[in-house]
Amino acid sequence: KIQNTRKRAPAYPPGVDVTVFDQAVDELRGQLGTDNVSLNDQPLIDGWYMEHPNTHDMMHVLDDEELVPSAMVYPGSTEEVQHVVKWANKYRIPIFPISMGRNFGYGGAAPRVRGSVLVDLGRRMNKILDINPDDYTCLVEPGVSFFALHDEIKRRGYDHLWIDPPDVGGGSVIGNAVDRGVGYTPYGDHWALHSGLEVVLPTGEVIRTGMGALPGNNTWQTFPYGFGPYSDGIFSQSNFGIVTKMGMALMPNPGGFESFVYTFPKEEDLTQLIEIIRPLRISNILENVAQLRHVIQSIAVLGNPRSTYYTGDGAIPIEIIHEAVSESPLGDHTWIYYGMSYGPPHIRKYKLDIVDAEFKKVPGARRIDPATLPPDEYFWTRDRVASGTPDVQELRWVQWVPNGAHIAFSPVSPIRGVDATRLIEIARRRHDEFGIDLLPAFIVGLREMHLIVEIVFDRNDEARREAALKCLRAMIDDAAACGYGEYRTHLVLMDQIAGTYNWNDGALMKFNEKLKDALDPNGILAPGRCGIWPKRYRGRGWEM
Ligand code: ADP
Repeated sequence: KIQNTRKRAPAYPPGVDVTVFDQAVDELRGQLGTDNVSLNDQPLIDGWYMEHPNTHDMMHVLDDEELVPSAMVYPGSTEEVQHVVKWANKYRIPIFPISMGRNFGYGGAAPRVRGSVLVDLGRRMNKILDINPDDYTCLVEPGVSFFALHDEIKRRGYDHLWIDPPDVGGGSVIGNAVDRGVGYTPYGDHWALHSGLEVVLPTGEVIRTGMGALPGNNTWQTFPYGFGPYSDGIFSQSNFGIVTKMGMALMPNPGGFESFVYTFPKEEDLTQLIEIIRPLRISNILENVAQLRHVIQSIAVLGNPRSTYYTGDGAIPIEIIHEAVSESPLGDHTWIYYGMSYGPPHIRKYKLDIVDAEFKKVPGARRIDPATLPPDEYFWTRDRVASGTPDVQELRWVQWVPNGAHIAFSPVSPIRGVDATRLIEIARRRHDEFGIDLLPAFIVGLREMHLIVEIVFDRNDEARREAALKCLRAMIDDAAACGYGEYRTHLVLMDQIAGTYNWNDGALMKFNEKLKDALDPNGILAPGRCGIWPKRYRGRGWEM
């Protein structure tokens, strides 16, 4: 039944006999309907962000045939998810749940174990189950994207409700929250703002967390904790359950908003600037997760290939970037801060005057008047995202190289100048070593920041893929040696990063493994995700 129309024969679940697998697939088709189970036996086609494949990782840093499922299944209800889970236990077939698979840069729709069966929840389970205009909450299924939630709120005329979209808005609200993604309004910490999960466990039972465990409750989306141990945490960045419903807080329309952008002239300004940002951010004068981006990003996000500016070897010289940016409406700069102030004009003015006085302590700091910026300027993307309107422009920098793909290094640090410079130094040294352009941005949360360094590489060029991966692996080790760890990562790097969280002889991973073995005795659910391997796989060379 599976034809070899590809570079490599289509994948099968490891350790499962081919004829047994075919029989198992037929059985599942009988349960879910023929249309809802498909084999991954067609050529791999990349598509683009909004029409992304669920057959492989289209931003693949390994060969695209490496992390592929054997089949994709489309359950239509929680009961059907339970069917799939019980089926997987019966045949010991690894399954890998995704919501929508637009997790670009972290693996997309791909499973960690080649030949897993992909459980694509989003295709049919895509209902907005509730939007409560009085409590400012919603309840969604895995296939609800930020765009869909936003549009439905508008359609119902709820102008008093805002959502919080991440950089690119086509992904799933659930998928993003369970992977602990962030957005840019004051409601940017999605995981912190969720309330209530429905989860199918790896053995097929369903639970509701928090108040959802109390029949007849009316507080599932308003009080996240319920009674007893708070179990939600173990269902984020894990492989302990399949989330079929999630509640989420919605933000009140703040009654006005105003984006602002400042530029700073020199590389060295970073240290002083971060020191200025910290108290302003903690005291909420800087109200949203802000982005402090390097000048190279200002150029890359225009969407022109780097060859427009430079065709030589190695990383692009910084003088060329400065020359290119000096022609732009932003003028020459090295760092650029995008922020947003919320509330009616007099409230905004109070905060913005403080920000202005503090930021201008950096010699040469300039506030750019948004009225001078053309409608296609990237500033307006940040403006939309930070005011609750999903957008996709952010991805333009992927065109920096031909067949562009991206993968990120994202260490967490305190909001301190010394940490910012130390991390930049680590990244720059390794980027220079591997001849990669350094594209850094600091994403400043309330008391910590993530440095996000996106490596953009030609996914059809094996040597460039390898350079990207080696550079990343080196940066992860360098950062860990200084006490920094990543907040999230691509499938390929999960073992390495989990290995850096090894205090007290790996006590945390031992605990995770204990949970995994208790909850998933047959080891069928997303083996290896976030470095957690079930017993059947441990010590058998699966780590990479
Ligand atoms: P998005 O739809 O936002 O692109 P994904 O669906 O790709 O996000 O989800 C990111 C990752 O989070 C997936 O690879 C998967 O491991 C995990 N995940 C997503 N949705 C669920 C879910 N409903 N239950 C369990 N894990 C999930």
